[in-house]
Amino acid sequence: MSEDPTIFEQIAAGDIPARIVHETETIVAFLDANPLAPGHTLVIPRDAYTKLGDLPDDVATELWATVQSLTPTIETAVDADATTIGVNNGSAAGQEVPHVHIHIIPRFDDDGGGPIHATAG
Ligand code: 5GP
Repeated sequence: MSEDPTIFEQIAAGDIPARIVHETETIVAFLDANPLAPGHTLVIPRDAYTKLGDLPDDVATELWATVQSLTPTIETAVDADATTIGVNNGSAAGQEVPHVHIHIIPRFDDDGGGPIHATAG
């Protein structure tokens, strides 16, 4: 874990406001402050692990299960046609916040098409 609280750790603790869409003791999901599409959501572990490989197995399992269960709910909420799901796993990959987060980015038939290769906000 990081020594200093990350901005996402502070969101999970309620110290920084965010539009939280789902939370458990382990996982928090909230809307991205600079969305690439309506409904752009970030799913994080409550504790501040920097990269996917740092996650304990049980946290990784709940994190992915949350992404799976939230994705169709988000698609329905914003009437999306598909979803891009991505992780910038390390600073060289564009990870700006050193706290694991999975992007759920709703996609639309008329949004220009193609994959989003860089999900940095
Ligand atoms: P990364 O580039 O690290 O994969 O993505 C970081 C994401 O976090 C960006 O999409 C950015 O918009 C989002 N973000 C950064 N700071 C905040 C914040 O304080 N609140 C929320 N809700 N999102 C944030």
